[in-house]
Amino acid sequence: MEIPFWDKSIETIDRSELEKLQLAGLKRQVENALKTTFYKNKLLKEGIIGGSSIKSLDDLRRLPFTTKSDLREAYPFGLMSVNKEDVVRIHASSGTTGTPTIIYQTQKDVSMAADTMARSLVAAGCTKNDICQNMMTYGLFTGGMCFHYGAERLGMTVIPTSSGNTIRQIKFMHDFGTTVTHATPSYLLHLHQAIEESEYDRNDFKWRLAVTGAEPHSEELRCKIQDKLGIEVYNCYGMSELNGPGVAFECIFRKGMHIWEDRYIIEIIDPVTLEPVPEGEVGELVVTILHRDAMPLLRYRTRDLTRIIPEPCACGRTHRRLARFTGRSDDMLIINGVNVFPSQIEEVLLKVNGVGANYLIVVEKQGDLDKLTVQTEVTPEMFTDDTRPLNALKERLKAEMSALITINPVIELKESGSMPVSEGKAKRVDDRRPKDF
Ligand code: AMP
Ligand code: ZN
Repeated sequence: MEIPFWDKSIETIDRSELEKLQLAGLKRQVENALKTTFYKNKLLKEGIIGGSSIKSLDDLRRLPFTTKSDLREAYPFGLMSVNKEDVVRIHASSGTTGTPTIIYQTQKDVSMAADTMARSLVAAGCTKNDICQNMMTYGLFTGGMCFHYGAERLGMTVIPTSSGNTIRQIKFMHDFGTTVTHATPSYLLHLHQAIEESEYDRNDFKWRLAVTGAEPHSEELRCKIQDKLGIEVYNCYGMSELNGPGVAFECIFRKGMHIWEDRYIIEIIDPVTLEPVPEGEVGELVVTILHRDAMPLLRYRTRDLTRIIPEPCACGRTHRRLARFTGRSDDMLIINGVNVFPSQIEEVLLKVNGVGANYLIVVEKQGDLDKLTVQTEVTPEMFTDDTRPLNALKERLKAEMSALITINPVIELKESGSMPVSEGKAKRVDDRRPKDF
């Protein structure tokens, strides 16, 4: 069997050579970090005065961890390590409003990210002959443009349909002979259902492969999608902080995602002790980015839980594989691919008059998509014969929340005192989605 490569020499590089590249990259990133207001003092305090302070990869552990709240603290320019004129693009994490977590890229960074993405797509067997429909949202979210640039770099024909408008998605897939799609796994199931109900016959489509990511999903779900849709489904991991999709990607063997170690240094740590876990055990993924000039990110705590698959892969790539993600070490919810923190919902509830003391966030499956319901008590005077204030409150909460978290919740208002009061720590989230991994 012929194994496809984008850059075989790098993808199959000897590990000792790879480590040399990582060390050079780490020195460069430390130099960059010292140019930022955010890292400068933190590094100087540790006695790190330049790239030369990093003698070996073990020195990584002298560097501070970086968290999502650090990124917010550094907003808007605290992590910029180049002149503002050299930045050509800014992106933000999905669902973030208020103080967003953003990234900046130079022209070279955009190009490097596209190259990483193209490498990933080739690993999965995509070629320049593919017609690729990108159903991820375009805009601040990296799943749109960053994927797009990579697919174009490979030479695919890219149709930037963005998310939603399923009828049009199906029409384009049919009329242009789309072979590859990029969407969340839940949207794929929804799309399948819509094709079944449409005027089109599945046999008239050329669809052969789907790239999925942006939300955790199980191997069982992958198999279900593959069986139902008759296509190959590849898992793709990424996040806006790390330039979007394509950080780790499955090769044609689909047994875990190769993480591109010439571009990222990874650690798997115990989220409580912050110490590394033995190789092969589950922990939180920590990533240091090596190929971005405009914005260094040292030991970034992704909060995503996974483990390294230590065995070599049959494809011959020497970059290690990450197992399917099993959850997060924080309370972030991913709802139809969009990141939502319960605190964002609480923020709205707390500022709107008429909202009572107790609330519960319910996430469940409705068909193949996620449904978010916010149940909240209202103040005693709200429950009268006149339903207009209640309806107005509902509309206001809905509008404020969808503005803040970019998805539309269902709002259920409850009479004051009608929701159970927990004795210990209040249970604010009831995630009823099946968890089979
Ligand atoms: P964003 O920054 O909006 O792209 O969201 C990134 C987050 O989405 C990651 O930190 C993960 O929690 C989640 N995510 C992305 N890709 C995957 C994947 N393939 N499997 C599980 N979770 C994923
Ligand atoms: Zn492989």
